[in-house]
Amino acid sequence: MHITQGPQFNGKASKRLHVMAKPIGAACNIDCTYCYYLSKQDLLEYKKGCSPVMSDETLETYIRQYIAGQNTAEIVFSWQGGEPTMLGVDYFRRVVELQKKYQPKGVTIANDLQTNGTLLNDEWCQFLKQHNFLVGLSIDGPEMLHNAYRTNKAGRGTFKQVMKAVELLHKHQVNFATLTCVNNLTSCNALEVYRFLRDEVRSPQMQFIPIVEQKSFRTTAPQTWLPQEQLKQGDKRLIPGNKESIVEPWCVSDQAWGNFLITIFDEWLANDIGKVFVQYFEACVERWMGRKNPLCTLNEICGKGMAMEPNGDVYTCDHYVYPEYKTGNIHQQQLESMAYSPAQQAFGYGKTRNLTEQCRGCDYQFACYGECPKNRFIRTQAGEPGLNYLCAGWHKFFAHADRSIAYILRATGNPVAFGRYSDSALQQAQQQKSVKSAKFEMRF
Ligand code: SF4
Ligand code: SF4
Repeated sequence: MHITQGPQFNGKASKRLHVMAKPIGAACNIDCTYCYYLSKQDLLEYKKGCSPVMSDETLETYIRQYIAGQNTAEIVFSWQGGEPTMLGVDYFRRVVELQKKYQPKGVTIANDLQTNGTLLNDEWCQFLKQHNFLVGLSIDGPEMLHNAYRTNKAGRGTFKQVMKAVELLHKHQVNFATLTCVNNLTSCNALEVYRFLRDEVRSPQMQFIPIVEQKSFRTTAPQTWLPQEQLKQGDKRLIPGNKESIVEPWCVSDQAWGNFLITIFDEWLANDIGKVFVQYFEACVERWMGRKNPLCTLNEICGKGMAMEPNGDVYTCDHYVYPEYKTGNIHQQQLESMAYSPAQQAFGYGKTRNLTEQCRGCDYQFACYGECPKNRFIRTQAGEPGLNYLCAGWHKFFAHADRSIAYILRATGNPVAFGRYSDSALQQAQQQKSVKSAKFEMRF
C-alpha cells in the first residue's frame, strides 16, 4: 500500500504517500525497444483527445493534493515519463514555484526525476543542482550494450548523448543514480556492465531493473492472466529467444538474472564494499539486519508509486497503468482517499496474501516476498499458479549472498536477523552441539 503510518509529526499521526507523476505521459524523444510505457499511448487513448502534457490546472491540483495528503518532515515528488525533460526547464520552474506556494512550515520538499539524459544541457543541470533534484539516469552499460536497445527514433544508438549527460551531471555536481536495464544482453555481460558503471560513469548509486515482459503485455493487464495458461517453472517456453517463448526476446531469463546478481555481488564484495553503492545489495543488508526492505518489489507489501497520467488519472502502480487498475482522477477524488481506498489497500496487501505455497515455504521469503506481482505469471513446481518468473534467479542469488551478508553484518557489529547464518540459527546450532557433547560425555 502507498501510505505508511508511523510516528507523529506536528502532533498528528505521520502519513506519507508516493506517486510517480507523468507530466508528459508516455511521450518520449527516443524509442527504446523494451520500453513498457510507449505502448500506453494507445492503451490510454491519448489519440482520443487526452492531452499528453499535464495542464497548469492539473499540475497545481496535483501538487496541492499531494502535499495536503501527507504529514511528514519530507515530501518527495517523483517525475517520470515518457521523457519529462521534453517539457523544458520552464515547466519544472513552475513545478518548484507551485511546491513553494503549498509548502507547509517545517516541511522539506524534494524532487526526483527519471530521464534518458539525451536532452540534458548546462541550463538543465544548473536548475537540477539549484533545486537539489535527484536524477535517475537510464544507461545500460558500454556503447554496444547500451545501443542495442536504447535507440532514437531513427534507430541509432543514444550512448554518446547519454555519456555527455554523465559528464554534465558530474560537472554541475547534480545528485544522480544510474538505472540499468538487465535484459538478455546485459545479463550475460555482468562484469563489463558493472565495471563500466563504476569506472567510466562513476555512478554514485547503481540501480538494476530486470526486464520481464510477456508478449501479451501491451494489451493484457498483469494478474488478469488465465491460471490454466501459466507455464510451470523450468518450462522451455519461458526462455527468452526460444521460438515458442511467451516472453519478449529482450527479457532476462530467470537463471541469467541470478547469475548477473551473483557476478556483480562477488566483484562488489571483493573490491568495492563501502565505496560503491548498489541499491539491491544495500537493501539486502538492511533486510538481513531485520529492517524493512526499502524496495517495493522485495517488500512485504507494495510500497511505492501510484502512477498519475497527464490528465490526472491515477493507477495503482507504475507497472499497472491499465484500465483495470485505474483508481480515479484527481479532478474528481482526492489523492489521499485514493491511496487509502479499499481497492488500493487490497492491491498492496495482496502481495503477501497471494503468495504461493512454494514462496511460503521458501528460506528466502523474508528477502523476496514473491517479488513484484506483475512478474508472477508462472506455476510452481507443484503446479500452483502465481509464482514469480524470476524466482529461480532470486533464490540462487539469495542463497549465494546469505553467508557473506551475515559476515558483513557481524564484522560491523550488527545483528543478523535472518538467513541460514542468523544469530538465532547459530545459537540453536551451538545449543545442539552442547547437547550432543553432553550426551557423548555421559556415555563415557
Ligand atoms: S506492483 Fe511491483 S512495482 Fe508496483 S508497488 Fe507492487 S512490487 Fe512495486
Ligand atoms: S525466491 Fe522464489 S520461492 Fe522464494 S520467495 Fe522469492 S519467488 Fe518465492
